[in-house]
Amino acid sequence: DCSTLDQEALALSQAALKKESMQEVRRSLPIFPYREDLLAAINQHQILVIEGETGSGKTTQIPQYLLEDGYTKGGMKIGCTQPRRVAAMSVAARVAQEMGVKLGNEVGYSIRFEDCTSERTVLRYMTDGMLLREFLTEPDLASYSVIIIDEAHERTLHTDILFGLIKDIARFRSDLKVLVASATLDTERFSCFFDDAPVFRIPGRRFPVDIFYTKAPEADYLEACVVSVLQIHVTQPTGDVLVFLTGQEEIETCCELLQERCRRLGSKIAELMVLPIYANLPSDMQAKIFNPTPLGARKVVVATNIAETSLTIDGIIYVIDPGFCKQKSYNARTGMESLIVTPCSRASANQRAGRAGRVAAGKCFRLYTAWAFKHEMEESTVPEIQRTNLGNVVLLLKSLGINDLIHFDFMDPPPHETLVLALEQLYALGALNHLGELTKLGRRMAELPVDPMLSKMILASEQYKCSEEVLTIAAMLSVNNSIFYRPKDKVVHADNARMNFVVPGGDHLVLLNVYTQVAVVGATVTNVFNLIALIMHYFQLHVNRYLLSTRNAVTAGYFYHTARLSKGGYKTVKHQQTVYVHPNSCLFEEQPRWLIYHELVFTTKEFMRQVIEIDSGWLLEVAPHYYKSKELEDSSSKKMPRKQGKAKEELG
Ligand code: ADP
Ligand code: MG
Repeated sequence: DCSTLDQEALALSQAALKKESMQEVRRSLPIFPYREDLLAAINQHQILVIEGETGSGKTTQIPQYLLEDGYTKGGMKIGCTQPRRVAAMSVAARVAQEMGVKLGNEVGYSIRFEDCTSERTVLRYMTDGMLLREFLTEPDLASYSVIIIDEAHERTLHTDILFGLIKDIARFRSDLKVLVASATLDTERFSCFFDDAPVFRIPGRRFPVDIFYTKAPEADYLEACVVSVLQIHVTQPTGDVLVFLTGQEEIETCCELLQERCRRLGSKIAELMVLPIYANLPSDMQAKIFNPTPLGARKVVVATNIAETSLTIDGIIYVIDPGFCKQKSYNARTGMESLIVTPCSRASANQRAGRAGRVAAGKCFRLYTAWAFKHEMEESTVPEIQRTNLGNVVLLLKSLGINDLIHFDFMDPPPHETLVLALEQLYALGALNHLGELTKLGRRMAELPVDPMLSKMILASEQYKCSEEVLTIAAMLSVNNSIFYRPKDKVVHADNARMNFVVPGGDHLVLLNVYTQVAVVGATVTNVFNLIALIMHYFQLHVNRYLLSTRNAVTAGYFYHTARLSKGGYKTVKHQQTVYVHPNSCLFEEQPRWLIYHELVFTTKEFMRQVIEIDSGWLLEVAPHYYKSKELEDSSSKKMPRKQGKAKEELG
């Protein structure tokens, strides 16, 4: 009848309006006046470096310009890489919206364990790691007409490797266009690396940002953040706030503290909308940070450095920067890799401050002293390739037939000993033979989208007849440490809940138990499980179950990560490094003689996270070329003291 028709007409005209205003927004971006010049430059040069202020429209607009200009004719694809999963998903969603298409049709994204693309997808946003894996199936990237290596200044390991590979294929694929897009950092170096490729600069609009430092160092930066946000909220004019923290746990704690204090203040203050953003946040929650702030309210986005350059949130006037980030660090002598909260670089701090000056003059509150900025921070962040384990990448390059890694075209080469250690580790895992050539096992390991130790563990599980268990454990380990979340005010409660899942043997088995008992653990875990199971099926390996030998399979993959009980803690077997069981582990009290850990985190000291008890005899069985039986003898027959003493308090 009439009224529904009216409503339909109304909805249609509203959609048209929305699309129209969307087009208006597109035309208002700093990149828009340069559209024609940019397309001409791309037409003229095979490789182009594009530099532009964050938010100028590089990521969302350039692929659309290329599409409009015919670069996807004949079903060719445009690929755009992002170092971060969240950015790939969020940007793809935005572009689909701007083009008025369903995400996953013409525009899609592809990230590890999740593929939101289809046959029709011509604009493909993806993590740099995913494009790297595409070389395995399509070594010349023949289905792409353009590759955009975006956020190049981030210098992630995968982006750096892509530089070398893409520079190489560009030589024989003269029809392939390569765009290297970056924030206003380092662009001369990119140009130099790509044989003096021209640099196209998009002049940004930038308003002045006043920078404030603290007079003295902050003892507790989380608390300082909370206080600063509330101060801004109460004393400063309208404008949203962006806070930079280092990870999920910190961000959630900060959000909870803010919400709680606001509740206490009640109607005495205006509405404060507190929104977190980090990699593991469900995507509907992620999208919320882009919703416009209602009149009279203020939005505060609490983010990891995802918001430094990868995502632009409109309306930010105030930035709070404690000056830290979480970084991988790697000791090439001991082969120990760990995540450490460290001071960010001056370049990072300046990018963060810049977020306050996009729409109007802004303010940046640095929660450190001007002296610390000058004297304690590094000029720029060390590229990841120089501070990470290279096992994964070396395995991939070997599968691509690149044997001479020493002479690979690195923009900044990794330390020699890191390369050597990666080769040694792959040899010990059985992925390479004594000539450094890929073995059959190595080829299979490369096909699994996980790190070598994890893939070895998975592949070994077939032989131990426990692949269903091991796949579950691998999936649980891959979705990060979000399973046992401990809110600051509910630590006791959370720990009790976890106790209910404790089973003998170690944290891996607890994870397995959680998965089996709690159906709600999440679709992500199931996705990861199914994906790996699919690949196993493709290898014609059997997914079977046999609980007892699960720990053998873990050992087959992670024998490198073995620690032995010794006075006051544990020592790694090969290098005698002191490490401790994480107080959250189910083996914290028990202190078995031999342990394997999944990863190390450094807070007050080196903690092993996710540990499992093993029998030292298994080490000889799975890695006879790595361990000598003498190394594995127990020096004392006495049982060690059971308690680890102060560790729990020191963790704070
Ligand atoms: P750049 O890559 O140059 O940093 P982007 O293309 O990511 O810039 O962003 C351009 C503009 O698009 C931003 O300033 C913002 O206004 C808008 N934008 C980007 N992503 C979103 C989103 N998910 N929701 C709303 N607006 C967005
Ligand atoms: Mg961008």
